[in-house]
Amino acid sequence: MIIQLESNISENATQKIRETLDQLGISHTTIKTQFQHYEVAILKKDIDIRIIGNLEGVKDVHRVTDDYKLVSAKWKVNPTSIDLGDGVVIGGDDFTLMAGPCSIENEEQIEKIADYLYHNNVKIMRGGVYKPRSSPYSFRGLGIDGLKSFYKLCKERGIKIITEVMQVSQIEEMHDYIDIFQVGARNSQNFNLLDELGKVEKPVMIKRGISGSIDELLQSAEYVFSAGNENLLLCERGIRTFEKAYRNTFDINAIPILKEKSHLPVIADPSHGIGIRKHVDKVTLAALAAGADGAIIELHYEPEKAYSDGQQTLSFEEFKRLKAQIEVLKEVV
Ligand code: PEP
Ligand code: MN
Repeated sequence: MIIQLESNISENATQKIRETLDQLGISHTTIKTQFQHYEVAILKKDIDIRIIGNLEGVKDVHRVTDDYKLVSAKWKVNPTSIDLGDGVVIGGDDFTLMAGPCSIENEEQIEKIADYLYHNNVKIMRGGVYKPRSSPYSFRGLGIDGLKSFYKLCKERGIKIITEVMQVSQIEEMHDYIDIFQVGARNSQNFNLLDELGKVEKPVMIKRGISGSIDELLQSAEYVFSAGNENLLLCERGIRTFEKAYRNTFDINAIPILKEKSHLPVIADPSHGIGIRKHVDKVTLAALAAGADGAIIELHYEPEKAYSDGQQTLSFEEFKRLKAQIEVLKEVV
């Protein structure tokens, strides 16, 4: 059960709600986010929720039977949209594209790609500065200095950035140079990291774990929300299956299911989802048709020279073609 509290609720009224829940033998947690106050209660038996609804300071009460509560679609009337400022909003009617290299490599690379995005009306650039790599000998990113250049050069062009945060200690140093924190597949269930990201106001995009279920992704989002941050995006990036013909199995089913289960925007990552450059376009279009709110796509002017994930990275020309196809399909769906 989710109890939405009035924003100006008094301490006495809050106390009364807690006491009533205690008397009913219902365990409950107080949640304060940047937007609202809630009391989340775990109902083990059926109660007449009007008992709670009639208490002073209660705005609304919702019965949510899912294991995750605040990210559930069962209580929120309108889907969530994420406002990055300057008119850049994710969620709602549009299909948002985020594009850029797997890894930030140098300033020249940032400028070339950011200029390209600017001229093609793409408002969000991706690029990792902390890279989770399977081998410790692979390129592991430029770190905080790379992020500072990335942020500055994009800001000059009016472009927002999304980049991966790998550990708790990086949050603070990254905070002022970021528009969206990305939680990578490998950290999808790093609950300490998720808890700490609940304490920031910046949006967080959580990727589905490499072998993560849809429910686990939603519970990861619940961690961040319940720690105080409602600005969340979910990302389907493919899962590990027995199939070896491509890098990951992009789970197209996850898109309508996530949209049905949660009010949060759902972003597709077709690049990691299939891992094969020439098929990234088809998976992107499928995700759009399936109801995704956007896609995050790896892009480089010389994919074959990219420091990481070149095999799944689109060239400028390929991206432009895909963007034109998206415009056509958008009209249909
Ligand atoms: C990435 O976005 O480059 C990345 C490492 O993604 P994932 O966490 O989905 O593997
Ligand atoms: Mn990558």
